[in-house]
Amino acid sequence: MKKFGLSHHWLIFLSFVIAIPAGIFFGEQLKFLEYIGTAFIRLLKMIIVPLVTFSIINALARFEQSEELRRIGWKTLGYFMISSLAAIVVGLLLFNFINPGLNVDLPVGSDSELSLQVNRPSGILEILVNIIPSNPIEALANMNMLSIIFFSILFGIALTRVSPKMKENFLGFSESVYEVMIVITNWVIALIPIGVFGLVIKAINQTDVSFFKSVFWYIITLGTALVIVFFIVQPLFLFLFTRKNPIVHLRQMGDAVITALATSSSLATMPVSMKCVEENAGVPKKITNFIIPLGATINMDASAVFEAVGALFIAQVLGFELGFTQQFIVVFTALLASIGAAGVPSAGIVVIFIVIEAIGIKGSAADFIIGVILAVDRPLDIMRTAINIYGDTIAAVVVWESEKDAEDTTIS
Ligand code: ASP
Repeated sequence: MKKFGLSHHWLIFLSFVIAIPAGIFFGEQLKFLEYIGTAFIRLLKMIIVPLVTFSIINALARFEQSEELRRIGWKTLGYFMISSLAAIVVGLLLFNFINPGLNVDLPVGSDSELSLQVNRPSGILEILVNIIPSNPIEALANMNMLSIIFFSILFGIALTRVSPKMKENFLGFSESVYEVMIVITNWVIALIPIGVFGLVIKAINQTDVSFFKSVFWYIITLGTALVIVFFIVQPLFLFLFTRKNPIVHLRQMGDAVITALATSSSLATMPVSMKCVEENAGVPKKITNFIIPLGATINMDASAVFEAVGALFIAQVLGFELGFTQQFIVVFTALLASIGAAGVPSAGIVVIFIVIEAIGIKGSAADFIIGVILAVDRPLDIMRTAINIYGDTIAAVVVWESEKDAEDTTIS
């Protein structure tokens, strides 16, 4: 993954920059390249189901070998949820303030190439009930992501209750599948420069300037939300839970944050964050070894913000008014989607389909906007990864401090 390094970023940027004049001047002649964009979106969708399923099962099955680990496990999960939710709320508020996707004239419908299937569930209770799959295989085949996540969570927890031999048998297989999926994900992501070219041509052929303006405001909205999470929300959490100085912590985690910025991959950064947390923040190995790998897989504060803001943006561009229930669903599914996102470059985009489908949006018009979001995603992905990693290091310190307190009370 590191091999791509900066050169991959530059390739994407170059492809984006060249595609704009190419699309403006030769849009019609290059129309056939739109298929490349479409193929790329299909590749992204192809990896969602196995990636999300095995990421969740493996992460959950890893815990609970002892009473202590179980306690640490629940605390960690609790903290992961709270910090990601707080981050999503920042994105949500900012989105409702800026409204980046208003007044866009996107040609959608029968006389356009962009189609939209709207499938609005009637309410929150119905959505919650529908999360339970009546047939898990059917849910897998239909890419019913919330049901898949639900079943994977049950499966992962149940795996901790079977005999160690049975558990190991399965985990041997499922961890291999996950690793293979990461390899495939990296291949697909390596194709981004080509995919982006096709997607930008398509964007220019099928939209007008109002859409590009809204994309600019989307970048501002998400970028600002990420800055707020990194400079205000995360330090505040660190301070509130541990009374530690956030500036000192940031300095201690410097190497991890810089590695995340350079690789855009939480997984690739994991060894560096483990080292920083253990050596610079003094968190013991048993906690670091548990929380950091788990965090790199399922705790993604910034990706959660991205899933929410991205999905709201898509809905707004397509002219949907999202009421309270719908926004609540976005928050909830963005959290789940961030759990299922892989810690590799741009992987957050793969799971955004989960969020939009939960609010009933599907079709090539939505795919198309996702493609454009992807085209401008690189700088935002770099920010996200650093924030995701930083959130994991804070979680490790928070849990360790609370364990210290627990140990102190047990001793006294
Ligand atoms: N690149 C991010 C990470 O590795 C995931 C994302 O695309 O949001 O943490």
